[in-house]
Amino acid sequence: RGFQNVGLVIGVTGIVGDSLAEILPLSDTPGGPWKVYGVARRPRPDWNADHPVEYTQCDISDSEDALAKLSPLTDVTHVFYVTWTNRATEIENCEANGTMLRNVLRALIPNAPNLRHICLQTGGKHYIGPFEAFGKIKPHDPPYHEDLPRLDAPNFYYTLEDILFEECEKKDDLTWSVHRPVIIFGFSPYSMMNILGTLCIYAAICKHEGIPLKFPGSKAAWDCYSDASDADLIAEQQIWATVDPYARNEAFNITNGDLFKWKHLWKVLAEQFDMEYAEFEEGEEKQSMVEMMKDKGPVWEEIVREKELLPTKLEDVAQWWFIDLVLGGESLLNCMNKSKEHGFLGFRNSRNSFVWWIDKMRGHKLIPP
Ligand code: NAD
Repeated sequence: RGFQNVGLVIGVTGIVGDSLAEILPLSDTPGGPWKVYGVARRPRPDWNADHPVEYTQCDISDSEDALAKLSPLTDVTHVFYVTWTNRATEIENCEANGTMLRNVLRALIPNAPNLRHICLQTGGKHYIGPFEAFGKIKPHDPPYHEDLPRLDAPNFYYTLEDILFEECEKKDDLTWSVHRPVIIFGFSPYSMMNILGTLCIYAAICKHEGIPLKFPGSKAAWDCYSDASDADLIAEQQIWATVDPYARNEAFNITNGDLFKWKHLWKVLAEQFDMEYAEFEEGEEKQSMVEMMKDKGPVWEEIVREKELLPTKLEDVAQWWFIDLVLGGESLLNCMNKSKEHGFLGFRNSRNSFVWWIDKMRGHKLIPP
């Protein structure tokens, strides 16, 4: 009652979805007071249940389920699309992710008469190509800005944008915005890519085994400037885009706005776990995290039991493949000028963001104290 806007977060238990679920209902959030619906595939986990959000379990890859569960949400005014699925090839990713977005928009656009805006989250791979193309296609010269032309390779982000543009044409006054974060510092134990959660679990396992915290990446990643995107900041930019007319029908990068080096954050990670860390050693081969951590499931189980943590399985909460990719080479920087020029001035101190999310994971007993 008395709501000004009604948001629907698709992927509400994800790394940005959980931030949106926390921030949207706050009394001072722009565009508020917001009524908030949240959709995700699995039953609602306890760590997400405190947010005042009406939760719907729905598999949006299934057109019938999407239609049945989403078409009754006739009061939705804004959609926050913060989900994805990962398939074996990028061609399959285009197909599967395209189907998910289409199912959502086709259930909502004809049935929600007040629908005004759709925020779509994609990411920095818009400029460098999908994971499978790393090192195979020539990316643009960084820093990356939003006006660069698309690369000549399949990319599910391009598919999602094209579906978004096409579906928004179907309704008068329906606008869109695209949000492109880089690696996200955030909380969700249900995320398919949580770099910080995975690094904390790595640190906890090293500490448990009494070995120093060794950087699992390359020399280039240790030394270069990197950028990251705080999950709350991404949510803030999306919310800004729903209220500011200058953001309509535009794509925006979203990073913290500062730079860091992994060699500096590595020290912070070691401090957080009160343990020794090892400097990157010259001439050393980069180790594969997937390989190194493949037998650590029982060790994590022991840590969870000993420290009375939230029961989780290592394969669900740690994405070693993602660390191998992100820390495998030099980071390619993204430019925040367009977002600032259009009026979004939010930023984060990446070091503080790193520690903030570690504290939050600890608060929810996802990682040891
Ligand atoms: P996520 O993996 O953290 O969360 C996904 C959410 O979607 C979860 O709530 C999950 O339950 C839900 N979901 C998955 N499949 C579903 C289905 N079939 N039906 C209903 N719900 C479903 O998501 P994310 O990392 O925020 O990813 C969103 C976009 O951001 C993706 O395009 C991703 O590539 C991009 N991105 C992510 C990162 C990162 O570090 N995580 C960095 C840059 C870009």
